[in-house]
Amino acid sequence: MSQRVLLDMDIQGLKEVASDYGYPAYRGKQVWDWLYKGTVEISEMKNLPNKLRERLEEDFVTGMPEIVKKRVSKLDDTAKYLLRYHDGSIVECVRLLYRFGTTVCVSSQVGCRMGCTFCASTKGGLVRSLTRGEILAQVLTVQMDTGTRVSNVVIMGSGEPLDNYVNVAGFIRMLGYKEGLNIGQRHITLSTCGLVPEIIRLADLGLQITLSVSLHAADDETRARLMPVAKKYRIKEVLEGCRYYARRTGRRITFEYALAEGQNDRPEDAQKLASLLRGMLCNVNLIPVNPIEGSGYRQPDRNSVRGFKAMLIQRGIAVTVRREMGRDIAGACGQLKAGYIKEENFRK
Ligand code: SF4
Repeated sequence: MSQRVLLDMDIQGLKEVASDYGYPAYRGKQVWDWLYKGTVEISEMKNLPNKLRERLEEDFVTGMPEIVKKRVSKLDDTAKYLLRYHDGSIVECVRLLYRFGTTVCVSSQVGCRMGCTFCASTKGGLVRSLTRGEILAQVLTVQMDTGTRVSNVVIMGSGEPLDNYVNVAGFIRMLGYKEGLNIGQRHITLSTCGLVPEIIRLADLGLQITLSVSLHAADDETRARLMPVAKKYRIKEVLEGCRYYARRTGRRITFEYALAEGQNDRPEDAQKLASLLRGMLCNVNLIPVNPIEGSGYRQPDRNSVRGFKAMLIQRGIAVTVRREMGRDIAGACGQLKAGYIKEENFRK
């Protein structure tokens, strides 16, 4: 039987494990304290009896990854981490510093099967989904490494969060544990490529998180060229799911729109986008694409980004342009990992 992940459990669950092994329940709380201090190995939990540590090591891993590589941007202090879990799986997570606090962008899967053509994370397909505790471990790793409290979390790294629905919903609940990280739902953003049934399922949970939906095009044909998922769910259905989400939760939806020169950045694209979103509780986040090796996408120049933004604003749509962060450290999702794998192959 494969080992279970200690970080997947709440305090009560850990106390039950301790009792099952014949130890008082407070031993479970001691395990919890070690976990939330970012302990990677069970053998480091020094105040536990040796026998209990041995039993735990037989049946569990902590779920905490080790830091394989860390790069810090000289431009804005963005830090990008390459993390390795007990089974050798590697993911990225990113720490971003804003005026309002420290944000961590977490990965929800190792790789991704969604196949978006502008994304480096999907090149090798999906390796596996992370458990809720393994996702939480990314936040703990950054918090322990930097010694500063993480106040916001975005689920926007590698993987499609709604393709790992149960673990991601569990992760969101765990972020709110008062005895743990105590991060409120309004400080959490989940980014999806638009899996409609799961958007509806999420809406029915009534969470107060921000839903961010990658639209990237204003017509189905262009969207399908960029994102294969668009062949399954048409823009109309995605927007119906989003309206349902906004109604159920009262939360404004963010639509992500990666601008790629000559693909989706024409004035008629802005016009179509504005008419699709008219009257919706939403805002649009424009992201000039990060060039990815082999993708062939180029970033539009500043004037065309400004023009696109102005056309949306004129039509009553709230717009932001994503500030580029960490450009000098392989800023786009999946790029650090892709670079690392290349270096490793080179060494072999
Ligand atoms: S953009 Fe997100 S959903 Fe699309 S392939 Fe990359 S990780 Fe997956």
